[in-house]
Amino acid sequence: MEAQEIKRAVKIHDYIEKLEKLTSLSLKSSPVFLGLPSQKLILQIPERIKPCYEYVEQLYEDISEHDSLFKALRTGWGYINQDCKIVPNNKEQYFQQLNNSYAFRIAKERGHLVPDCLLEKKQFCYGQYEAYYAMHEIFQSNALGVWSMKPDSHNFRHTYAEWYKNVKLITSQFVVPSSRHKNSIPYIFDQLWVVSHNTNQVRLLGLEIAGENQFLNGGQSKTLRKNNYLKELGYEMYQVASWWCRVDPYRVICEFLNLSGIFPDATKYLIGSELNSIDEYVCGICSAPMVRWDWDWIQKCVVGDSTVLAHKHCVNHREFIS
Ligand SMILES: [Zn+2]
Repeated sequence: MEAQEIKRAVKIHDYIEKLEKLTSLSLKSSPVFLGLPSQKLILQIPERIKPCYEYVEQLYEDISEHDSLFKALRTGWGYINQDCKIVPNNKEQYFQQLNNSYAFRIAKERGHLVPDCLLEKKQFCYGQYEAYYAMHEIFQSNALGVWSMKPDSHNFRHTYAEWYKNVKLITSQFVVPSSRHKNSIPYIFDQLWVVSHNTNQVRLLGLEIAGENQFLNGGQSKTLRKNNYLKELGYEMYQVASWWCRVDPYRVICEFLNLSGIFPDATKYLIGSELNSIDEYVCGICSAPMVRWDWDWIQKCVVGDSTVLAHKHCVNHREFIS
């Protein structure tokens, strides 16, 4: 039991077990997504007037927010119709931002109402970190092995290349006003994806990791109640369960790609997509719990007459234990 992925899996499964008791909610059998937008929102952007790389740089370098994004879109975001892509290169730097007080500080500088208590508190949500890490690995093409693409690999590669091209920008900690006036505390989206639709059209997809803290306090996702308001602003909101981000962040990103229609095949090819609840994340070799923090932590292998899912560690050490 000394392998890192097994230790981590046991710890996370224990933690979710405790959370279930504290909240009296069936977290382990909950869906991965707790809330989805009612429709696709397609925004028209003016045709290119001038190159607007500076806006993109600004959004990428800094924690971004609603006003600067829309300013960039209004001025004709030539970048959208080109092949370049802005996703983080240096994940460490971005991980430092995954902390609400940092985002609130930026929001305050941009004129939003933010009470001091929110600036002092260091809030850190692990699910958010893990979902961000998985997204990063997928976009740096480090995690292609998370998909088994044997039967029709040509088709897979083709659709993969298509959707990959359409994702233009992913930011962490995106600040959005929570009402028409700046005198209410803004929302912080955990991820915002800017995806090109057709020529001069974009979709803005907001991902909120609904943390267990909210449920422990008897509440629910903050943005779920405000879906209509965010829809008016132009955002499609996806609320994802933080406990699922802890167990299988790659599945979270794949389901997001599937549900949003960006890459419908993402879950079809995903290794382990047949697992229906967190309780089913059990190794077919050693019977200990599994999580997928790195893309290769869950692997398919043949045991006797059947194909099972197992820890990377157990698959690699099979010949020694059997
Ligand atoms: Zn195992």
